[in-house]
Amino acid sequence: MVKRDYYEVLGLQRNASEGEIKKAYRQMAMKYHPDRNPDNKGAEEKVKEAAEAYEVLSDSQKRVTYDQFGHDGLRGTFSQGGFQWSDFTHFGDFEDILGDLFGGSFFGDIFGGRRTSARRRRGPQRGADLQVRLKLTLEEITRGVEKKIKLTQLQTCSACHGTGAKSSDHVKTCPACHGSGELRQVSRSLLGQFVNVSTCRTCGGEGQVVDQPCPTCSGQGRVRGTTTITVKVPAGVASGNYIPIRGQGNAGPRGGPAGDVIVFIEEKEHPDFERHGDDIIFHKAISIPQAILGDDVEIPTLTGKVRMHIPPGTQSGKVFRLKGKGIPHLHGYGHGDQLVKIYVWIPTKLSSQEKKLFQDMADREGLHPPKSARGLFGKMKEVFGV
Ligand SMILES: [Zn+2]
Ligand SMILES: [Zn+2]
Repeated sequence: MVKRDYYEVLGLQRNASEGEIKKAYRQMAMKYHPDRNPDNKGAEEKVKEAAEAYEVLSDSQKRVTYDQFGHDGLRGTFSQGGFQWSDFTHFGDFEDILGDLFGGSFFGDIFGGRRTSARRRRGPQRGADLQVRLKLTLEEITRGVEKKIKLTQLQTCSACHGTGAKSSDHVKTCPACHGSGELRQVSRSLLGQFVNVSTCRTCGGEGQVVDQPCPTCSGQGRVRGTTTITVKVPAGVASGNYIPIRGQGNAGPRGGPAGDVIVFIEEKEHPDFERHGDDIIFHKAISIPQAILGDDVEIPTLTGKVRMHIPPGTQSGKVFRLKGKGIPHLHGYGHGDQLVKIYVWIPTKLSSQEKKLFQDMADREGLHPPKSARGLFGKMKEVFGV
């Protein structure tokens, strides 16, 4: 197999900048990521080819060598048999790309686990991951919740137990690779001998072939079916968090291990509350007499109603803090708070009697505001950061 030019692999000019190289590689890896191309065997090879090109072109020293001497100049750079994933020193980058694919750019996997990007090289392929969205109310997020999700997936065919063969007599060792799942090609150049290892195309790397396919699944080893999974959502999650359910995704073709179900959390908008991190903001309108004379009022919270005291002389815009009435912290103990922002409601339609009441007050000196209202509302900035 003749190796393609690394610049050509990434679709770049020879004078491409570091940033352009990285960008091109990310695009290739996203496009051909095996989890996005479960039925395209060529996709994995494409990612590998791009990774190899990136490994060289992103390293200024290797790049200079390659520019001068081509592929031959890099002999000894990769382990025997050509580029292997273990040669790839950019797993950090690769994880970034996985993050982009699976929403990790928000808060990431709430259990802190990393998805493994190294894939099996031989034997049956792993099934694809399934993504589902789970919409939750703020109340559900506050107390934590267990949800059942019904989904359609590819399941192991019960007729052939996933082998894809009509009976076990029809599963044969692959004649092309003799069961190893890979093909070795030796090529010679001026500088010596290269061994190129590639996935066997006859068996797709599985090492086995089926000569009489199972009639139920047409040799795929899996059929479409529905299942219900249970997801335990801890208190305190937010939109962008996701929960992986291992081994509940699509069954792999011909007996391969199942993929995962990735449950993405989405927060439903609440009619009364606004979320600000783990704090909850609630707007409370009070009447002019309540603001002047003070009152005890009922305030809804995510865990039920509470009574709150409004002291006499409360200004519009004043914020009260109900400690611990917010959302539990996902990582660590404790809760956020509920912030209650007060609005003094100004009536717009008055009876003639009510109008007279305010006219009587209009001239009273004690009811006039100070010249500067700054000190009254200055604290809003600290509370809301606006
Ligand atoms: Zn079958
Ligand atoms: Zn084979």
